[in-house]
Amino acid sequence: MKNVLETVHQIQEFGDICDHCLGRLFAKRSFGLTNKQRGRALRIAHALAYDIPFVSYEKGTCWICDDLFDSIHAWAEKAAIAMQDVECTTFVVGTRVPPMMTESEEMIWSDLSLEYPEPIKSEMNREVGKAISTLTGKKGEPKNPEVTVVLNIADDCVELQIASIYFYGRYLKYERGIPQTHWNCRACRGNGCEKCNFTGKQYPTSVEELIAEAPKQMFAADKGVLHGSGREDIDALMIGTGRPFVMEMRNPKIRSVDLGRLELAINATTARRVQVKLERWSDKKTVEMLKSHKGHKTYRILVDIEGDISLETVQNVVSKLKGALIHQRTPERVAHRRADLIRDRTVVDIECLGMEGSFYRIEVMGEGGLYIKELVSGDRGRTTPSLAEILDAPAKVVALDVVQVDEINNEMETNKNGKT
Ligand SMILES: [Zn+2]
Ligand SMILES: [Zn+2]
Repeated sequence: MKNVLETVHQIQEFGDICDHCLGRLFAKRSFGLTNKQRGRALRIAHALAYDIPFVSYEKGTCWICDDLFDSIHAWAEKAAIAMQDVECTTFVVGTRVPPMMTESEEMIWSDLSLEYPEPIKSEMNREVGKAISTLTGKKGEPKNPEVTVVLNIADDCVELQIASIYFYGRYLKYERGIPQTHWNCRACRGNGCEKCNFTGKQYPTSVEELIAEAPKQMFAADKGVLHGSGREDIDALMIGTGRPFVMEMRNPKIRSVDLGRLELAINATTARRVQVKLERWSDKKTVEMLKSHKGHKTYRILVDIEGDISLETVQNVVSKLKGALIHQRTPERVAHRRADLIRDRTVVDIECLGMEGSFYRIEVMGEGGLYIKELVSGDRGRTTPSLAEILDAPAKVVALDVVQVDEINNEMETNKNGKT
C-alpha cells in the first residue's frame, strides 16, 4: 500500500486544496478527527516528512470545492430561515453539488487510486445538518425525516421537500354522481373548455376533493390525494361500514393536527354528501398495500370468545390490531402441506361491528396470505400478536365469509337508471 504522505505529496502537486478536501480524501483513516483537522494534520506531517516549510491553507486556492466549507454556517442560516414557516421536528440535509466539483473530486480519486475518500456532499450534509440542529433545535433524522433540506450549491438557494402526512379512515357517500377522485374533462382533458365551464373537470366535485377541503386548510397543504381501497361506481352510493381509504396531504406546512378535530372539520365541510370516520395516522406503505389490493382479502367473521367480556373491550382490543404487523408461523392445521416458516403480514383494516347472539361480528381486511383463524386464536403462540393474546382469553372463529374488497359494503346501492 502506498504511503499516505507520498499520496499527500502527489495531491499537493495537483495544486492546493483546503484542509476539508484534503482530510476527506483520507476519510476512513484514523478516528476522532474532523476532515478539517485531519487535513491540517496531514499538511503538517507532509512538511515534516519532506523537510519543507509548513504552509497553512490559503483561502481561495482550493480547486476542488472553491472554499465551499467556509459557508457551512451561512447555509445553515439559509436553511433555518426557509424552515421557519414549516412545522417540523426532524429533517435531513441533501446537497446538490455542482457537476464541476464532483468531476474534480472524482478525478483525484481515480488518478491516485484512493481507497476510502468521502464525497463533498456527505461532509456538507453532515456539517450543515449539525449547524442547523444547533440553530433550530430540530433533530437530524436520516430515516423518515419530516423535511428534506436541499442545498442547491450552483443556484445558491435552499429548497425544502416536505414529507406528506397520511391518515386512514373510511368514507361513506350519500349522493350519487360523485366520482371517487377528480376526473379531467373528456373534451379538453383538463385544460378548460366551454363544455366544462373552464374548470377542466368532468364532474363538479369528487369524494377526494370533498374530503380534502378541510385538511388542506388545517395542514396548510398544497393538495390532498385520496388512495381508496377500490372504488364504487360514480352513480353508486357507499353506505354501511364505508370504504377504507388513506388521504395523503402533500406539502403540509403544519403537522400537529388532532385526528378527532380533523374528522369533525371534514364532516362539517362535506355536509351530508360524504362523511368520514378517521381511524389512525397512516403511511406510504399502507397506501401501497391499498393500491395493490389484488393480494388483499376482506373477511366477515363470527368470533366466539370465552369468558364474560364486554363488547367495548373487544372493540378496543380489535382496534389495536389495525395496521399491526402479524408474525405468523405456518398454522398447525396446514403445517403438513405447507413449508414451516414465519411470515409477516399486515392487518390492513379490522373492525368489530357488534354482537350476534353471544358471538362478535368482525370485519377484517388482511394482506394476502394472512391466516384469519390464527389471527383470532393465536394458534398456541404461533401467531402473534393475536386477538386471543391481547384479550388474554381463548377466542376462535366460528364462521368465516370472504368478501371481495369492492363488496365490502353489502348495502352498496347502484342506481341502474342514473347511468351517465
Ligand atoms: Zn476544498
Ligand atoms: Zn373541458
